[in-house]
Amino acid sequence: MPTMNELSAQVHQTALDKGWYDGGGRTFGEVIALMHSELSEALEDYRNGAAPESTWYEKKTDGERHISREPVDETWKPCGIPSELADVVIRVMDACAYYGIDLDRAIQEKMAYNATRPHRHGGKTI
Ligand SMILES: [Mg+2]
Repeated sequence: MPTMNELSAQVHQTALDKGWYDGGGRTFGEVIALMHSELSEALEDYRNGAAPESTWYEKKTDGERHISREPVDETWKPCGIPSELADVVIRVMDACAYYGIDLDRAIQEKMAYNATRPHRHGGKTI
């Protein structure tokens, strides 16, 4: 199983290959805003009635939108909350690879710290 850092490198290479870093890339603020936008897309799917675990597939051909419950092939776009959450993780991984962040270490450190925190962090409601 690949590490988070290995997946991050792969995600970042795809972003490079697809031209997202041509011309100098994005500012840190833009990178964070794009992470937010994927969460907003997940919320919008939910607001439109999608179940959190539901995935469907779309393909546009000749200006017409086709939808399938099952993937037809890799050219059909996965849609729904799982796909939007995957986009969040992909954007986080891309940023970590770009900025040289050791995501495996950061997650392990944060999980270890979280395990030491008090129940509900001292009475927070959510
Ligand atoms: Mg998205």
